[in-house]
Formats: sequence, structure tokens, C-alpha cells
Amino acid sequence: MATIGFIGLGNMGAPMAANLVKAQHRVSGHDLVASATAALAEKGGHGAAGIAEAAAAGEIVITMLPAGPQVRQVYLGPDGIIARARPGALLIDCSTIDVETARAVAAAAAEKGLEMLDAPVSGGVIGAEAATLTFMVGGEAAAFARAEPILKAMGRTIVHAGPSGAGQTAKICNNMILAASMIAVCEGFALAEKLGLPAQTLFDICSKSTSQCWAMTGYCPVPGPVPAAPSNRDYAPGFTAANMLKDLRLAQQAAGATGAATPLGAAAASLFQLYVDDGGGPRDFSGIMRFLNRAAAKKTEI
Ligand code: NAD
Repeated sequence: MATIGFIGLGNMGAPMAANLVKAQHRVSGHDLVASATAALAEKGGHGAAGIAEAAAAGEIVITMLPAGPQVRQVYLGPDGIIARARPGALLIDCSTIDVETARAVAAAAAEKGLEMLDAPVSGGVIGAEAATLTFMVGGEAAAFARAEPILKAMGRTIVHAGPSGAGQTAKICNNMILAASMIAVCEGFALAEKLGLPAQTLFDICSKSTSQCWAMTGYCPVPGPVPAAPSNRDYAPGFTAANMLKDLRLAQQAAGATGAATPLGAAAASLFQLYVDDGGGPRDFSGIMRFLNRAAAKKTEI
């Protein structure tokens, strides 16, 4: 049993912290939203009054925050995690953020003698609830070994990707591939419909052919072929289009900084920007299918 501080109890953080409690760890959690902090206390954790209290509460401190600016604020602020953590505490940031911030915050932690890992996740809210997340972890091997048993209470696949920032690198590459493959699947189904081929027929063929991919077989954007997919529930998330756009921007930022050629990633970012501008931000990212269909119906050029 470990003592754990947990900051950021939103859609992902709340079930992750609850799974740590279920695994008999002592969890002291905090969120800006008071009801989220109270909900953890109701599940058997402790509701901490602020970041400082949660940071000082654990031999391990975990964060699950929206983006880079919140991570900088929560770790680097005068009453933040790095200032308040116990000596020797291990810090684990599970948020999806830019590689530069991940490395900068880890370097600031190291200056205070604190080990830090970037450990973003894949698997969404369903994976967070079921404790089946995939963790992609960047940082020192010794810190990874310390974190692994804790992460196992929240996930099924725990991979040490390499040094600091490697977890975030894997995450943004994964999501750039996912976004581009989701759009390609949508376009295939849209074209088949125009040509008179039923979605189920296309699915039965393509799911056994060379275009097979998770966006099709695990998360089909057309209702019917994959009953558990968000397309069957009016594209309720799942993983929001707004979060996908955030990750695509991070990928484009990294591609620009390193000179990587990512034309499809750039096109995916532009399309998700249009979908979000059209009000799709809170819907599941596979709802881009509906956006493409609407654009076709209106004969809008995209
Ligand atoms: P969320 O917005 O539901 O949760 C973030 C929480 O952080 C909120 O409850 C917010 O109040 C809290 N917070 C923000 N600033 C804070 C501060 N200064 N102090 C304390 N609490 C603060 O977001 P989420 O869906 O849980 O996602 C969290 C991270 O995980 C994001 O980086 C996201 O990209 C990533 N992610 C999300 C999913 C998903 O399906 N939702 C999947 C994989 C990765």
C-alpha cells in the first residue's frame, strides 16, 4: 500500500484515483472543482483542501490535468507540487501535454532531487473506469520501476518508452495516426454510401482486408457494425473532438519544431479545427463522420 497525492479529478482522473483506492492505496486528492474532490472522499479517498496538501500527502504524486499550462502552474507554482512534495517523492504526470513542458517540469523536479515521469494514457474514460489503460512512460528506468506497480492498479499495459518526454512523444504520434486513420475510414464509408454499398457490407469486407484498422473495427464511425462505438449513441464521448484537436496541435507543433513531414497530420488538424468550429468540440472525435456528411450535403468545399 502506498500513500498517493492525486491532482486533477476530472473525467479521467476521478476513475483513476478511485481505482487506486480500490487497490488499497491511501489517496489524497484535489481538484479545482469542489464536488470532484468531495466525490473522491465519498469513494474512500481523502479530499485535500489544495494542491499543497495533496502534494505533501504522498510518497507518490500523480496529476491528470487538461494541458501544458495547467501542468506548469500545478508543478511550478510557489505552492505547487515541486515546492511542497515530500523529499524523495516520485511525481507522475498522466496528462497529455507538449514534450517541451514535460521535459522542463521534469528538469525542475530533478533540481529539487525529485524523480518525475511523463505517463500519458490511451484508452479513454472506459479504460480509466475498467483499469485497462495503456501508459506510455518517459523518464529514468529506476523511476519507472517504482511507478509500475502503482500504474498497474489503473492500467493493463505499462510501457517504458524511453527518457523524459518519450511518453508524450508516443502519445501524440499515436493520436496523429488515429485521427488520420479515422478520417480515412469516414471517407471510405461516405464514398461507399454514395455508390450504393451498405455500410455493413463495406465493414464485413474491409475489416478482413488491407484497410483494416482500429478506427474501423474498434470504433466504427458509422452506426451499426460496432455496437459499442460512440456512433451508436449520437457520438457521445468517448474521446472528444476538442481533445483530439488539442493533441493534433501538439503533434503539429512538434513536427514544426523538428522538421518532420506530416502532411496528413496537418490536414487532420485542419479538419478537426473545422469540426470544432462547427460545434463538434464536445462530441466524440468519430463524429467527424457526421461533419463530413453535412459538408457533402451542403456541397461545402473543405
Ligand atoms: P477533464 O477536463 O475532465 O479533467 C481535468 C481536471 O483537472 C478538471 O477536473 C479540472 O478541474 C482539473 N484542474 C485543472 N486545473 C487544475 C488546478 N490548477 N488544480 C486542480 N485541478 C485542476 O479532462 P480529462 O478528460 O480528465 O483529461 C485529462 C487529460 O487526459 C488531458 O490531458 C487529456 O488530453 C488526457 N486524456 C483524456 C482522455 C479522455 O478520453 N478524456 C483520454 C486520454 C488522455
